[in-house]
Amino acid sequence: MCATENPTDNDNSSLDTSSHNNALKDSTSHSDPQNSTNSTPTNSHDTRIPAPQGVIDQTPVWDLAGSSYSKYRTLSAILPGLSSALGHPVATATQTDPQTCQSALAIPRVSSAVVILVDGLGYFNLKAKREHAPFLASLLGDDSSFAEQDKTHSLRTCYPSTTTAALATLGTGTCPGLTGMLGYTQLNPRTHRITQMIKFKGAIPPADLQREPTVFERLSAQSVRVSNVSLPEFKGTPMTEACLRGADFVAENKLDKQAQKVVELASQPGLTYWYLREVDKAGHHYGWFSREWAQALEQVDNLIHTVANSLPKGTFLCVSADHGMVETDLTRQIDIAKNPALQDGVQLVAGEPRALMLYTKKSASVDAVVQRWRQEVGKVATVMSKQEAIDSRLYGYSTPRIEEMLGDVLVYCHEDVTIVDSRFQKQPAMQMPGVHGSMTRLEATIPWLTMLAE
Ligand SMILES: [Zn+2]
Repeated sequence: MCATENPTDNDNSSLDTSSHNNALKDSTSHSDPQNSTNSTPTNSHDTRIPAPQGVIDQTPVWDLAGSSYSKYRTLSAILPGLSSALGHPVATATQTDPQTCQSALAIPRVSSAVVILVDGLGYFNLKAKREHAPFLASLLGDDSSFAEQDKTHSLRTCYPSTTTAALATLGTGTCPGLTGMLGYTQLNPRTHRITQMIKFKGAIPPADLQREPTVFERLSAQSVRVSNVSLPEFKGTPMTEACLRGADFVAENKLDKQAQKVVELASQPGLTYWYLREVDKAGHHYGWFSREWAQALEQVDNLIHTVANSLPKGTFLCVSADHGMVETDLTRQIDIAKNPALQDGVQLVAGEPRALMLYTKKSASVDAVVQRWRQEVGKVATVMSKQEAIDSRLYGYSTPRIEEMLGDVLVYCHEDVTIVDSRFQKQPAMQMPGVHGSMTRLEATIPWLTMLAE
């Protein structure tokens, strides 16, 4: 590995420890939007059920420039496409043609639509474990190859492939470069501190940070019913406000009650959104090869099947995700704390173990930091300067207000590599068996499963 074992050379003064501690101490809830679970992740090796060979061996890093997904087959196209299908087309800053989104996603003209967002259920994760999801597999069709994406049933998510960024991308129909929701943690330029974006700890208030109108707001303004069915604890949270404001929040504690609500609401014209976090949660805690992950998938599949069977005739149902997941290989983990070259010139580190944002010291040369990181981790991660990231539209289109929140150096990991900093992160956060955030096919490809209720 590139990291040198030389802890005595650590220069703790090179990082702002107070903000790091604030930002990273509760990384155990990293996973999931608003997840408050703090139990220790477990690699339950005795119950692991590895995925078929192909899905692991053929996971090249996503090449943005070479992506064969059009912008209409991405996460940001879902709500504009649905708005058009409902007869109230909403154009966004980047999806200016909702009718084309609708046709690219093959959504029929309907009066009621249900969108189910299964957190962490990547297209390839689902495909590899399809025997645990008979209903979703039936929507997936016959293609069982892992070499190629089946473009009818998959879309691409945003970068980083993480919930904060992806839910804002979904909700606004735009991109992280416009929403300012840039990762699990990011810089608050007003305080010069790192903030945790699941709970907006120390962050700019949601309506001020995330200024793009949501598709839900725009539909509500046209008197279209929009309902967000979710857990009571998510009502009015900053994440909900930033990403999904404008919908009527329908709180239900139990999943079967939520399913019932979804069916009831769908009998009225409009849009019903249902968020399910179980798969992502199990993935972070046990890895997606685990029995626990498979059980979570079975539970979600069963719920969705029940809803699908009960929906009023003519309701359009679609299932997608915010991102997929990779299994961590801890033997390949890189620890910034053990490599002074990775600390040199770096003031703050944000993002997540698969997708990092480095904020450099004022005195440091950004180019020199980029070069040092390329030297040290370039074989297992892509390293670029902020300008390169902006030019390549890594975060989509961006504005100067959001660009000042981006790291000076951006790093995303290949294969199953993670980069952590043991000076500031606790063991559970560094040892999560399942992670996401980067650009591999497993993380960046999400399902697009649809049906029209009969
Ligand atoms: Zn997650």
